[in-house]
Amino acid sequence: MGHTLSEPLVERMRGFGTTIFAEMTALAQQTGAVNLGQGFPDTDGPNAMLEQAVEAIRGGLNQYPPGPGLPPLRQAVAAHRKARYGLTYDPDGEILVTVGATEAISATILALCEIGDEVVVLEPYYDSYAAAIALAGAVRRPVSLRPVHSAAEQVGGRFTFDPDELRAAVTDRTRLILLNSPHNPTGTALSVEELQHVADVALDRDLVVVTDEVYEHLTFDDTRHVPIATLPGMRERTVSVSSAGKSFSVTGWKIGWICAPAPLVRAVMTVKQFLTFTHSGAMQLAVAHGLLREMEWVEALRSSLQLRRDRLADGLATVGLTVHIPQATYFVIGDVRPLGIDDGEAFARSLPHEAGVVGIPVSGFCDNADVGRPYVRFAFCKRDDVLDEAVDRLVSYAARRRA
Ligand code: PMP
Ligand code: GLN
Repeated sequence: MGHTLSEPLVERMRGFGTTIFAEMTALAQQTGAVNLGQGFPDTDGPNAMLEQAVEAIRGGLNQYPPGPGLPPLRQAVAAHRKARYGLTYDPDGEILVTVGATEAISATILALCEIGDEVVVLEPYYDSYAAAIALAGAVRRPVSLRPVHSAAEQVGGRFTFDPDELRAAVTDRTRLILLNSPHNPTGTALSVEELQHVADVALDRDLVVVTDEVYEHLTFDDTRHVPIATLPGMRERTVSVSSAGKSFSVTGWKIGWICAPAPLVRAVMTVKQFLTFTHSGAMQLAVAHGLLREMEWVEALRSSLQLRRDRLADGLATVGLTVHIPQATYFVIGDVRPLGIDDGEAFARSLPHEAGVVGIPVSGFCDNADVGRPYVRFAFCKRDDVLDEAVDRLVSYAARRRA
């Protein structure tokens, strides 16, 4: 049992293997496929922000920053949260800078869950949630997001959850509700009414809500992101997580943060200091600049992403997929069943070889196999010519299949 050299990995982490994003990016490289898999942009963030990081490095900001994060970044996060959502957080004690949202979420779960505690999570869930819950020895309780029927042909419905299912998922062992809105991969931005259902359950059952808001700025049409911490009674029991990667097109920088009441931040800090202690002062300083000075740039990114969403969604509809138009994020979900295929995972795995395009199968983010089975996620945070090339390839592939 256990620690042999042939299977040295602890049991609770077996089955996680390599992340689907790394696997599919490697497949794109091997096959020369257009990569609409892993969500990273192929253009750079705001120039002045990049320059700030370079200057900070040249200026000698190269040693450990303080564990909670550089004060200018904590102050900028507080100012941004206040200006945008009216939420007040003390930069000294209620904000913690992390190595991306990923570390924020892992450290929070490790800090707040005893072994055997349960975490309610929306499925499909972002892959690191499952791993972080497993690492903590906690247990995930998925609540499914399913599309609500849409009348229009070739347009899939918006994904949402059933409030009764949410309530039923909570037991005496539940410690956290782990939310993600705007949601990867479905593109749903939860409405105030939906968030109120979550808040009601959290308040009734005395739960902490951890909310991953990394796509907070990337919402489309008239959708606005609503942080659950703005609902009555929720600021006190919410750990809000965000990061710079998506907002400023710097996914490799891995600068994230949490905002929460001081006792929750202290708990997360206790764990975080032993995971990484701290990370890149130069990039923290540059992100502070971004939050204070580059919101117009972010607004331009938002509108350009909306156009690219429409471009890819139209293209995928031409290919014959049923397209679920996202309210936010980098991603659009296609339902492969109109092509006469019912297994989205097998389809996504064959696509790089057969069509020269990479997408991500949604089934791997679900415990209930039926929830994700017919869906493939495609990223539109790419240049127009890349999106067009992917669509051209998919159109020829679909024509070959029909022939
Ligand atoms: N949460 C979600 C929902 C994401 O999609 C991602 C990455 N795309 C992350 C967290 C990770 O964010 P970071 O790179 O800041 O760790
Ligand atoms: N968050 C990115 C996505 O959803 C991938 C990040 C990663 O590769 N871990 O595509």
